[in-house]
Amino acid sequence: MSLYRDQGIVLRTIKLGEADRIVTLLTPGHGKIRAVAKGIRKPTSRFGARLEPTSHAAVQCYRGRELDIITQVETIDTHRALREHYGCLTHAVSMLEAVDQVAQEHEPNPALYRMLTGALRALAELQNPMVTSAFFWKLLSLEGIHPMLDGCARCGREAGGEDAELIAFDLDEGGTLCRGCARGGGWPLSYPALDLLRRRITGRG
Ligand SMILES: [Zn+2]
Repeated sequence: MSLYRDQGIVLRTIKLGEADRIVTLLTPGHGKIRAVAKGIRKPTSRFGARLEPTSHAAVQCYRGRELDIITQVETIDTHRALREHYGCLTHAVSMLEAVDQVAQEHEPNPALYRMLTGALRALAELQNPMVTSAFFWKLLSLEGIHPMLDGCARCGREAGGEDAELIAFDLDEGGTLCRGCARGGGWPLSYPALDLLRRRITGRG
């Protein structure tokens, strides 16, 4: 069996057998890993509470045939602020679930890792749900789903063109709508909101 080290964010844990858990982590070097923390549910466990969802930890694992086995854990950041505010934790967990869906096992995705660690840090600092919505926009973008924000998603007229003032956003249409196409549909969008959306999606915001 081979040994490896990495660090990661705990995405979720599930019970295994009497005293173990399977811990899913997103790591920069090994992508998503699923590893068994043996004896973690015993009160005397040497892992303590270091492998809870949202925790950032350095781990050492044995590569197993099906599941890896965690042999060492060191806390990097417990993200305590996230757990102390229920609303924050709910938002954080929704991000962790989304990442668990898109991340591939043993396929490094450094952009996804950076996005998740950045969003958790921002959420802990700002305690603002806007962090989570921005994260989902970026995740869509990373997955190759880009909402149209430079023109009308229905008729294709470009922003700045005649009568193409973009005044609404419609997820079903896949982007912004011009005044002619919106006709009261979609979410009304002010120019500052559109600007914010563009900056959030390109990661410059
Ligand atoms: Zn239009």
